[in-house]
Amino acid sequence: MANRSNLGNTKLTGRVHVPADLVLYNGYVLTMNSSQPHAEAIAVKDRWIVAVGTNNAMDACVGDRTKQIDLHGKTVVPGFIDTHIHVSDCAYFLTWINLQNIHSIKELQEILRLYSQRKLKGEWIVGYGWDQEFFEEKRFPTLKELDEAVPDNPTILYHKSRKFCSVNTRALKYAGLNPQDNSSFKPSVKQNSEAAANGVLVGEAANVVWRSIPQPGEEALLSALQEAFHSILEAGITGVHWLVSSTGELALIRKFCSQTKVPLRTYLILPSSMSDKADIEFPCQEPDQVRITGIEVVVDGYLSAKTAALHEAYCDGKAEKGLLFCTTEALKVSIERVFQTGKHLMLHVAGDLAVDTALSVLEEFAKKNAFKGKLVRLDQAAVLNERLVKRIKEIDAVVSVQPLVAESEFSLWSAIDQLGRERARWLYPLKTLFNYGICVSAGSDFPMEPLSPLLGIKAAVTRKFFPEERINIHQGLQMYTINAAKASGDEKILGSIQTGKIANLTVLSQNPMTTEPDKLDQIRVEMTIVNGEIVYSRQ
Ligand SMILES: [Zn+2]
Repeated sequence: MANRSNLGNTKLTGRVHVPADLVLYNGYVLTMNSSQPHAEAIAVKDRWIVAVGTNNAMDACVGDRTKQIDLHGKTVVPGFIDTHIHVSDCAYFLTWINLQNIHSIKELQEILRLYSQRKLKGEWIVGYGWDQEFFEEKRFPTLKELDEAVPDNPTILYHKSRKFCSVNTRALKYAGLNPQDNSSFKPSVKQNSEAAANGVLVGEAANVVWRSIPQPGEEALLSALQEAFHSILEAGITGVHWLVSSTGELALIRKFCSQTKVPLRTYLILPSSMSDKADIEFPCQEPDQVRITGIEVVVDGYLSAKTAALHEAYCDGKAEKGLLFCTTEALKVSIERVFQTGKHLMLHVAGDLAVDTALSVLEEFAKKNAFKGKLVRLDQAAVLNERLVKRIKEIDAVVSVQPLVAESEFSLWSAIDQLGRERARWLYPLKTLFNYGICVSAGSDFPMEPLSPLLGIKAAVTRKFFPEERINIHQGLQMYTINAAKASGDEKILGSIQTGKIANLTVLSQNPMTTEPDKLDQIRVEMTIVNGEIVYSRQ
């Protein structure tokens, strides 16, 4: 519990009148508002925070119909916001089998056998999360073993790293690949024929199989979407920036809105190829709950695929420098088009060459005063250097990172070997970005990485590679709250707990600020509140 003498004065807004609908008291309120850093209690009226202060001060807000919740010392933080997530992919993901806790290939076979009994012959089985290190056998399952377990259902099982998958013969046949004939993997699919003969596929070969899986029907997708939203709320997330990839996804969201209440603030970011759809509105009950906020322009690819565009070659001896997906001229045109839509500009830039190219174009716009007042955000901004950081600060762009992707790039992708020590030192330099006063927001990239913001904060504050770039817990919280609100220009209504802001709140089992950094992920989300309504409760 907070020391009462440290608590700020209770502030009541003139906007909404007491009595409140909801009062949370006996808590530790971590406001993320520097003028009143902590409090004991919060009052909510309609969807607005109307008072933040001491328990006693809430008496003025309580009426006959006020719901009062005793927090028993639990911590309240501003509702987490995830600034990079693929919601419909997580909807698909929920229809897959979770293989994370399988301890042997025999057990895997048994699970698949049972699962296939609920499927029609020929229906696909998709699984994810297996790890040979967890298996007694300490090896990958073979094609033969999968065929024994599920001879009649095409099956694809993604490894925990998502970098490769195991498949059975039926899946290969459906995809037109023949494990006995290496030529079926060429020329678009570079594949080691021995691994393929064993049913292990990487890169494009895995994609070829993936693409032959039929899409689930609309009903299945709508109910999976409902479940996906539930999982997001369970992680304490009250708002998402959803990267949309197809018009089908937009239609699905519209349909969902027309049938059901969307339980959290859902901002959609469209690819630039869909910028003509930027004005679409969504029939949702809560004002502004679902809307298109940004357009993404993809400047280069990804480090793990070595398509992130670099000034100097990757360290694999092949002299490859990745790929810029557009010329400077084309980039100018795309950016101009985004500015015309009035939406936020999101630039996917991973390599230093891509960041440099994007900044050069933005600097030109800035000289002409062409993006004054417009929100520009760099996603990834993975490979940087001090000069690039200074230039990001000068144009006042938001940087959106995914701390768990950063961790995977060091550990799974071996960034130091792939980029060399000097460049890897500047991979996701979060501390430096904060030191320069750049607004850094964070997302999960779910379902590629786990959803939990607490896990993301833990990764950023405990990073093992180049620990000089660790940030502190407060900065970790900022990335998922106030900075995430700034990433959509919403800092006046979201991102901190203060009167006049929307009551999006996350209740945690303990205070992250006083938790050991490596135990941050053990903190439980007790309750998630959106627009003043409890939308998730652990009990
Ligand atoms: Zn992503």
